[in-house]
Amino acid sequence: MTRRLLVASTNKGKLRDFAIAAKGDANLLPLPGLEGIAAPDEDEDTFEGNARIKATYYSLFAPGEIVIADDSGLEVDALGGAPGVRSARYAEDMKFAGEGSVDVRNNSCLMAALEGVEARAGRYRCALVAARDGNVLAVGDGTVEGWILAAAQGDGGFGYDPYFLPEGATGSMAEIGNAERMLLSHRGRALRDLLPKLMAVAAI
Ligand code: IMP
Repeated sequence: MTRRLLVASTNKGKLRDFAIAAKGDANLLPLPGLEGIAAPDEDEDTFEGNARIKATYYSLFAPGEIVIADDSGLEVDALGGAPGVRSARYAEDMKFAGEGSVDVRNNSCLMAALEGVEARAGRYRCALVAARDGNVLAVGDGTVEGWILAAAQGDGGFGYDPYFLPEGATGSMAEIGNAERMLLSHRGRALRDLLPKLMAVAAI
């Protein structure tokens, strides 16, 4: 597949994940001018619902192009699946009075919510949608099961990565290298799920 796909995300961690996962299978480029486009409301209660909103909306800004957008997050069983689709806004939603960047406050909020909790199973999920001219072409999804650590490990990655230990990994998501991350990652899995479906419906 050589046809280019435009990624509707300014998140450097996501862009890096997609670029590594695509390897030579697709030419992934950031959607031009994305910084200047007002973001749509992500008010669905599923990852796929929000990814559909983003992909169809942003595709209208690049007529004729295939635009991909993901919605992703961390689900923790002991918290009834929270932060889930609200992962990016967890500390804000919980009115958590911590300090630091959004990622630092989200992680502090998560540690506070899990204080004293021993059953710490959870997962990252990613729904990835490809759209063209406002129409959905294909949907992919990916999951990585794991556990929430009690203390940060590593400084790579982004978001909740220092606190997430994927099943079968040699370290936290912030410690492992690109090759291992892409094999395990929810975003890599979602892209590998999406590409064949997209090729089946679009001449790319
Ligand atoms: P979205 O941009 O609305 O999809 O929100 C994604 C949020 O989920 C991020 O801001 C992180 O808090 C969390 N998240 C999703 N994927 C990852 C990941 O691969 N590593 C760390 N955090 C992630």
